[in-house]
Amino acid sequence: MDLYVVLGLSHGASDAEIKRAYRRLARRFHPDINPGDRTAVARFRQIVDAYETLIDPDRRSRYDSGHAEPDDDRQAGGFEGFDFSTRGVDHSATFGDLFAEVLSAHGSRRPAPERGADLHQELPIAFDEAFADAVLREDRRAYLDALLDAARFRDYCPNGLQVEGRERIGRIVCGVTASQALIEAAIERGADALLVHHGWFWKAEDGRITGFRRQRMARLLAHDINLFAYHLPLDAHVALGNNAQLARQFGWTVTGRFGEQDIGFVGVPPAPTFLGELVPQMERVLGRAPMTVGDPARKVARIAWCSGGAQDYFEAALATGADVFVSGEISEQTVHLARETGMAYIAAGHHATERYGVKALGEHLAQEFGIACEFVDIDNPV
Ligand SMILES: [Zn+2]
Repeated sequence: MDLYVVLGLSHGASDAEIKRAYRRLARRFHPDINPGDRTAVARFRQIVDAYETLIDPDRRSRYDSGHAEPDDDRQAGGFEGFDFSTRGVDHSATFGDLFAEVLSAHGSRRPAPERGADLHQELPIAFDEAFADAVLREDRRAYLDALLDAARFRDYCPNGLQVEGRERIGRIVCGVTASQALIEAAIERGADALLVHHGWFWKAEDGRITGFRRQRMARLLAHDINLFAYHLPLDAHVALGNNAQLARQFGWTVTGRFGEQDIGFVGVPPAPTFLGELVPQMERVLGRAPMTVGDPARKVARIAWCSGGAQDYFEAALATGADVFVSGEISEQTVHLARETGMAYIAAGHHATERYGVKALGEHLAQEFGIACEFVDIDNPV
């Protein structure tokens, strides 16, 4: 096995190229993100072996002069399906591309992740070691944009990096809204980036940087903090989005999607229930009493939900055959629609229903990159 081929490199590759290729591939085949996949483990070891040889000048020159290191049994054993030609190792690919590929592959083939603890311990490097320095702003931006499929959405604000701060990102503060209070919390914690669901530059907004806008932006810029915001992409994401995370909170099983750009979710409770039982359960989880329109005795077998201010999706939710529609906010007319159609409505709070997506995203980043990522909940009664 040609060690250069293992890393997808030409024979004249520089140390920097070797490191880059190694990080990229190690990230992709790390057992932590391919649990239970023996082929990935074997490839990971091969990548580590190739890296260790090529990054050491003595070992590399011995290898280059034809005194190849003997294939050890780790490389020879248990290695199947290795075909770089179809893997498309691409020098120009960004972290984001590769990570997105890993994640999408994940979603489709890993219904019940199990941790390969035994395998993990015999690996020569720790996950964090391999990626501790993969913190460039551009990598983070590319990764997040790809992960959340940000380009797919028509939205009311720009998604992604909204305000550029320092180039390297090691510490992130997450929160629902890029308010002054959250910015202060980020400054206090020495954050390099703020990651939010509700960012700035909304379509209907006056674009002038005056008053409270100046105040917020001045603080952010003075501390060189990056602002990342993902709005609809973070409602819709299949695993980390607000709606997916609400399902997790309440134990609902997702059976479908509805509404504009498929942002709304449809699903079923763990067991058929009724409104008078569902609402107190939600109150316990969310820590506040939802506003409910509907008969407490109404049976609930199917639930439609969409976090935030999605009361205008009422008719789309009704068309799914749901017994109840859950969103964050409620309008005057929502009450009439619920009464007249018989589909119950639960307004569980805009902030309350949108805390979980950005929190999950932060936890995901912390896990994936071994960086500090703290969710700060700025108390909000809605
Ligand atoms: Zn919202």
